[in-house]
Amino acid sequence: MIGLNPTMAKVKPSATLVINELSAKLISEGKEVFRLGFGQSPFPVPNKVVEALKKNAHQKDYLPVQGLKSLREEIGSFFRRHYGLPVRAEEVFIGPGSKELIYNFQVSCAFDELLLPAPSWVSYEPQAILTGHKVVWLPTKKENGWKLNAKVLEEHCKKNPDQKRAIILNYPSNPLGNTYSDEELQALAEVLRKKQIIVVADEIYGEVHHEGQHQTIAKHYPERTIISTGLSKWAGAGGWRFGVFVFPPQLKYLQEAMAIVASETFTSVSAPIQYAAVEAYKEDESLRLYLEHTRKILKAVGLYVYDELTTIGISMPKPEGGFYLYPNFEKWRPYLISRGLTNSEDFCSHLLSETGVALLPGMAFGHPHDHFAARLSYVDFDGEKVLQYVMENPGIN
Ligand code: PLP
Repeated sequence: MIGLNPTMAKVKPSATLVINELSAKLISEGKEVFRLGFGQSPFPVPNKVVEALKKNAHQKDYLPVQGLKSLREEIGSFFRRHYGLPVRAEEVFIGPGSKELIYNFQVSCAFDELLLPAPSWVSYEPQAILTGHKVVWLPTKKENGWKLNAKVLEEHCKKNPDQKRAIILNYPSNPLGNTYSDEELQALAEVLRKKQIIVVADEIYGEVHHEGQHQTIAKHYPERTIISTGLSKWAGAGGWRFGVFVFPPQLKYLQEAMAIVASETFTSVSAPIQYAAVEAYKEDESLRLYLEHTRKILKAVGLYVYDELTTIGISMPKPEGGFYLYPNFEKWRPYLISRGLTNSEDFCSHLLSETGVALLPGMAFGHPHDHFAARLSYVDFDGEKVLQYVMENPGIN
């Protein structure tokens, strides 16, 4: 038998798989499962974008590797309007999902360490392993909302000043549900600039911040920040597989390298999807209302669950964007240990079989295994119905 690439032995099946398999088993036994483990937008794709997809179903040609020109122009002007960033069309790179683009980045870029604040999204580390990179998990603290502190970053970099580093910062955060303030981003940017670190700012939840304006670290550290985004979270189009990287001109060499990888792998994103996406970045009243209402719903549901859980003594950062909460069960550590539960995966498996509540263990997000935290996703509701109701009753809060 022909074996596997030896690298595969280094990638373990994810802890989320265990929970998904146990959920499926319980459902097949007729038990009720509360699916609070899944992170998909509950809302339909905005109507005008769906209509544009239908109109463009006949588009059949391969498109340029980095994307359709009119789409890249539209995205450039979206970034200029929203964030005041001087993004030009040629700095926009379209891929089949931001996950694929982050992988492509890891294939193309040479660095000694990939820095990840613990906790961070589940796929960064396996991608680093597959592409032969070393991951360094940077510790975070409850007092800082489990976010990366600039001093911790600086202390780490001082240890080995000659190392070349990249970092992935994701905010609003999956799994934390909170985001960095502008001051926090500024403080991180100062250290990043001093150490010349390349940043992938994973802002896939940037348009689903619950209140105010999403802030980007690219504003404070434009020269080495790549913004990663797409349509999966704010436009409900995860299955369309559409992601965006925005490069600074200083990283053109990296963008060009990624274009080579793209041309030898996915070639270009599906043509009908790209034509439809142009509509998603062209703002009008219907899109403004869609975003206003979906954000309002996410905020209301997030705060409701947050209030209910904090009332019974479970702590977590307050939700500020995206779909998630990150409840902490450390308070019950002695009890959990006495029940033979020694890590967050045991805890989540036990919780699921005892109560039917499916959460994802904190260890899947790089938190130490024995830290009792889990990700709760609060979007298991009929988004289409709720959105319709809120649209028809705009005064509702
Ligand atoms: N980054 C984060 C933090 C995510 O939660 C996800 C999806 O769950 C992605 C990136 C990937 O999104 P996509 O590949 O659909 O653009």
